[in-house]
Amino acid sequence: MKFTQTQQQRIIELDLTGEYVAKTEEEFASLEEREAAFREIDQELIKENQRRLVEFIDHKHQSSLRKNEFKIVDSLTQLGFSEVITPIKLAQGHLKKMGINEEHPLWKQVYWVDDGKYCLRPMLAPNLYYLLGYFEGSLSKPVKIFEIGPCFRKESRGSKHLSEFTMLNIVELGPTGDPCVRLKSLIEELMSTLELDYYLEEEESAVYNKTIDVMVDGVEVGSAAIGPHSLDRAWNISQPWVGVGFGLERLVMCKEDLNNIKRVGRSLIYQDGARLNI
Ligand code: ATP
Ligand code: MG
Repeated sequence: MKFTQTQQQRIIELDLTGEYVAKTEEEFASLEEREAAFREIDQELIKENQRRLVEFIDHKHQSSLRKNEFKIVDSLTQLGFSEVITPIKLAQGHLKKMGINEEHPLWKQVYWVDDGKYCLRPMLAPNLYYLLGYFEGSLSKPVKIFEIGPCFRKESRGSKHLSEFTMLNIVELGPTGDPCVRLKSLIEELMSTLELDYYLEEEESAVYNKTIDVMVDGVEVGSAAIGPHSLDRAWNISQPWVGVGFGLERLVMCKEDLNNIKRVGRSLIYQDGARLNI
């Protein structure tokens, strides 16, 4: 006999890294044997979650998400990028200027506020586009900026999507040299700061003509694009640019080998990976 569905569910919920998933398929000769095995796994998992929580509160004092965010800010500012801060509330018109309208798949994922005049930004790109449109005429090139902040998308998918997540978007307007080479070296800088192995995958994108995805073990952690792009004119951009957007929770999830992104996102059920109500 196998673990009951409830037992399997409990193991999956408490398991931090997915190492116990294989055990949910184990066969037992008797009910007693099964219950004993479940108790043992359950105790181990409770202990591991408690250990992680204590480590966070007593020693780290800051979640891995934040620690990595600060590390990234440090590294990017040292590379000459300036951190901008823009509104979370985004005008509908600015979303449409990104080519995201009623027909676009992302439209259905948008949280609207103020009777649809605004939304909670599903991405940072429109605000950064807006700023670059201003900076292009007023600053010397290259203009190097980034933003880290909350983004929102209605998501129904499981372990790699959050409805509120943290986006990191880095853009460079008027890069020196070949934009593609520049983009790749930028990605390399960031991923080596985080000590994460990655590979690139080129993909057709609905918002940008073509995107280069940054992948870690089969998980998309970021999407990059190169301009000139057909959207540029609407934002008063005429120079080449390179840009890449990362999901911070995805990066941390990959870095810590966690089996569910919810462990690292904004939550009242988890803190810094540890499950609270067990
Ligand atoms: P996916 O195909 O995985 O849903 P996407 O291609 O729609 O992602 P992008 O618009 O390229 O996402 O956003 C840039 C990055 O933001 C993604 O590579 C991912 O790391 C992160 N991201 C996007 N949506 C979410 C989400 N709902 N939860 C957590 N991270 C996300
Ligand atoms: Mg993408």
